[in-house]
Amino acid sequence: MTSGTLICPKCKSTDIAVQVIADTHTKKRSALWWVYFLLIGWVIEVLMWVFVTLPMLLIRIFHRRPLETTIQKLAVCQHCGHQWKLKRT
Ligand SMILES: [Zn+2]
Repeated sequence: MTSGTLICPKCKSTDIAVQVIADTHTKKRSALWWVYFLLIGWVIEVLMWVFVTLPMLLIRIFHRRPLETTIQKLAVCQHCGHQWKLKRT
């Protein structure tokens, strides 16, 4: 996938490839989080799954809403290899 309108800020080349990256916002879980999880977290996780995740899945199945993952576009210069993130359009 290429776009002729993009110009590399480094070498001014217009030979730019655009990659689409889905940012899923995964965070590393701390040791404290695991202590919390073992104590009461799993109960909340189960309740969340039953009362939030399952209805959410059903809503998504029936309504076909777009996923709320951030779509990040990454431009890669084919000339010098410079990479930069594009703003959402
Ligand atoms: Zn370049």
